[in-house]
Amino acid sequence: MRKPSKCAGSENKREMKTEILQPTEESVRTCARYIGRGGVVAFPTETVYGLGADAFMPDAVREIFRIKGRPNDNPLIVHVFSPEQIEDVAQDISPLARKLMQSFMPGALTLVLKKKKGVPDCVTAGLPTVGVRMPSNPVCRKFLRACARPICAPSANTSTKPSPTTAMHVWNDLNGKIPYVLDGGSCEIGLESTILDVSSDVPKLLRQGGIPKEELERVCGMSVPVQAGGTVALCPGMKYKHYAPKADVLFSAYYASMVATIAKRYDMLVLQGKNPVILCLHANAEKYGARHIFDMGENYDSYAGKLFACLRQADDEKFDTVIAEGVSSDGIGAAIINRLVKSSGGKII
Ligand code: AMP
Ligand code: MG
Repeated sequence: MRKPSKCAGSENKREMKTEILQPTEESVRTCARYIGRGGVVAFPTETVYGLGADAFMPDAVREIFRIKGRPNDNPLIVHVFSPEQIEDVAQDISPLARKLMQSFMPGALTLVLKKKKGVPDCVTAGLPTVGVRMPSNPVCRKFLRACARPICAPSANTSTKPSPTTAMHVWNDLNGKIPYVLDGGSCEIGLESTILDVSSDVPKLLRQGGIPKEELERVCGMSVPVQAGGTVALCPGMKYKHYAPKADVLFSAYYASMVATIAKRYDMLVLQGKNPVILCLHANAEKYGARHIFDMGENYDSYAGKLFACLRQADDEKFDTVIAEGVSSDGIGAAIINRLVKSSGGKII
């Protein structure tokens, strides 16, 4: 393993201006070199932007927590370029886990595996397991290849805020705290990875995300139970407030007359002097008349892709309340519901 020549973590503490770098070969190398010196940089993935450091440099990993303001009992996902790198951080990988790797890597699936001795406790929050993902985003893959090391990364936002799906979102949260954001454009999926614990005999779904549960079950050949919340932060949002803009978020249940209920609530809020905006599918947009809406596109994939960006946009445009249309719980719908329940703090209408 390569040894760091100098710890760049201290540079993070100095006043700095954060540069958004177009993903040229040279800027990818610049970011990888900075990581190699113990630094922290933001990079794109197909789910959301990540805030990465070398998983085997504990000082650099601790910088991630400091920069984000993240509680240190919330473990990080290790991002790898190749299946071989998974063997650097995990052990006793079951045949089922290997089958899932073949089917979903690279992609938006994080597998929780037994960790290898030597993976620092600050990465896994002291857990005996490690979350591993192999992203598919081409800029991310170039970056991971250049780093040539497992890179641990949470989402590149300030803790509790909606996750960043563009380089500008990262810049708005972290300007002055990191030197570089590698720009990969808008994230294709826009919601975090699905997290599946395959460290024991029975696979458990720890977080709904980019890969629908139904797809996992097809490959596993069995139904996959969803892990209920606990006191240990096994998963983001299981313990902490998450994905929350400044605006109040209300989330509608999914039913036939939902549009009428949302319109009524909107009008009531306006009478109370509020400034709401509705997140709706394109097919419903006209039904809301002159009310403020954000059009979430044609289907649940586009709804998922725009969700975090629209929560941020609501704050930027000074809306004080977001009313989000409900979705059915199949496919990516389950992940949309999960994020909206968390960002609304459970305020369902
Ligand atoms: P974030 O990128 O902020 O969504 O954070 C990554 C998430 O992956 C963490 O909050 C963890 O809950 C999850 N994760 C990482 N490692 C593990 C693990 N060993 N066991 C359970 N969950 C994990
Ligand atoms: Mg996060």
